[in-house]
Amino acid sequence: MLDSYAVIGNPISHSKSPLIHKTFAQQTKQSMQYDAILAPLEGFQAAVESFRQQGGKGLNVTVPFKLEAYRLATRLTERATIARAVNTLKFENDEILGDNTDGAGLVRDIECNLGIPLAEKRILLLGAGGAARGVILPLLQQKPSLLAIANRTPAKAAALQEQFNAYGNSIAGDFMHFADAHFDIIINATSASLHDALPELPASVLAQATLAYDLMYSHEPTHFLEFAQQNGVHQLADGIGMLVEQAAESFFLWRGIRPQTKPVIAMLKSPI
Ligand code: NDP
Repeated sequence: MLDSYAVIGNPISHSKSPLIHKTFAQQTKQSMQYDAILAPLEGFQAAVESFRQQGGKGLNVTVPFKLEAYRLATRLTERATIARAVNTLKFENDEILGDNTDGAGLVRDIECNLGIPLAEKRILLLGAGGAARGVILPLLQQKPSLLAIANRTPAKAAALQEQFNAYGNSIAGDFMHFADAHFDIIINATSASLHDALPELPASVLAQATLAYDLMYSHEPTHFLEFAQQNGVHQLADGIGMLVEQAAESFFLWRGIRPQTKPVIAMLKSPI
């Protein structure tokens, strides 16, 4: 029987994870299968148990189950413990190992694929939801000179800043709070782009930015990336590289082999 993996979420039909992992498996000659599981909103734990009972080896976890996966894990990596969210589960004997590979995926995409070191940079992170929570520690571990967390609901940004305060230099506020500040890198980790909206960010914060990065990915540029381009930011990136890199990190956790990501990113970016 082939080793079995899957991505679990709700909704799930849009997920690119099966294509990414099947390509990784072909590339590294791993005998495995990878499927997509639609779990009922109230049925995450039961769906995971059923998958395990059938011999499943590991799961990628996506919206809206990352917190439930964190609670379900019997052992956590350090980065998952600190993020308090899990996007990768690995089943071994009676153990459920929980990891969070989102932040490592973002960092690898910016540093290795886009060629921009994060050390000593001034970074503005927009959003304080699950994705932001997963990327803050890996960003701070690259030793930026500042990480500012801005959110529509500023109390959530302040809570995250307090939680991660010990790991690096960070500040928090709402979008207007940073109107007079300048940043090298601006990362949109809000879900605004999912709803075709733009965070209400003053254009002045983009004045010295060299990279605008939107975690959301689509074939058309998001409003955030269009806004950044209109305001003079030259380098623009969407989250497809992060998606592939976080998948590669999960694949490594499961199979002990690091697949090549660049050809997979190129495949996903090519016009349909
Ligand atoms: P959450 O629902 O957990 O958080 C949403 C965040 O977006 C909150 O901070 C919310 O602010 C903010 N927000 C929503 N709408 C607006 C708006 N119109 N203007 C300003 N702020 C807004 O979502 P996630 O954190 O899970 O996901 C965020 C994004 O990251 C999604 O687009 C998702 O697709 C993407 N993502 C990409 C990944 C990748 O691999 N590329 C991996 C994970 C996520 P408030 O607190 O005020 O409500």
